[in-house]
Amino acid sequence: MARQLSHKQRIVIKIGSSSLVHQETGRLNLPKIEILAREVADIHNQGKDVVIVSSGAIAVGRAAMGLKELRTLKQKQACAAIGQVKLMMIYQKFFSEYGQTTAQLLLTKQTMLSEESRSNAINTFEELFSLGVIPIVNENDTVETFDIRFGDNDRLSAIVTALIKADLLILLSDIRGLYTDDPKANPDAEFISCVDSLDESLTAMAKGSTGSRFGTGGMATKLAAARIAGAAGADMLIADASDFRIIHRLLEGEELGTLFRAHPHEFHLMDYIEHMS
Ligand code: GLU
Repeated sequence: MARQLSHKQRIVIKIGSSSLVHQETGRLNLPKIEILAREVADIHNQGKDVVIVSSGAIAVGRAAMGLKELRTLKQKQACAAIGQVKLMMIYQKFFSEYGQTTAQLLLTKQTMLSEESRSNAINTFEELFSLGVIPIVNENDTVETFDIRFGDNDRLSAIVTALIKADLLILLSDIRGLYTDDPKANPDAEFISCVDSLDESLTAMAKGSTGSRFGTGGMATKLAAARIAGAAGADMLIADASDFRIIHRLLEGEELGTLFRAHPHEFHLMDYIEHMS
């Protein structure tokens, strides 16, 4: 049965680090990013507002410096500073080939908690949409310390979804969707195509898994994202990022990935952000 997603007007697409780089080297996978830019530009050409939440700053910086492992916080932050501009340069290049302008928004937990900077961020997003620009968001990793950061872009993208009142969040990574158990460990694990309500048993199933050595989010952070986005009234999809052409297929209603249906209810986003770890 086809899903009805073509009417979505404001879409946030989160791309995990491992989906932007070559697994062997950690360097940017340029043809993939070009396809991503084309897909997103086309959504924009359809008259929709679209935001990319892109990970990859640390991974790209690490590869550029030829570092195998990052041991200290300052090493990670330096790599984020190096990688973020490289990432944005590539995004700008590909998006401009498709006639689009992009903008960089680096958010922090502290700025989200401050009412003034939060409302500045919302106003900036709105202005960018009205200018026809595609915002590209990441956490400002260079100034965040680990106990006070968002830490993963799954939840950050859901927070952005709630802030800008988007109606769809798509999480693209090396995790194809939700299974009844860990498919790597249990061959009988079944794929779940649609989740109408997120109950405790699903949360327990997600465990603390992380699928890759480049990103930080596992299934647990994706379900946390589904909870935030759903409460804010947005449907959420988890889908496989190995081929970014999946984006238009998802929007055309093909049953790929796992769809979490929105269940709008009162949710204290700021309390959540304050206590998230
Ligand atoms: N902000 C981190 C980066 O750009 C990624 C966080 C994540 O993997 O979710 O490297």
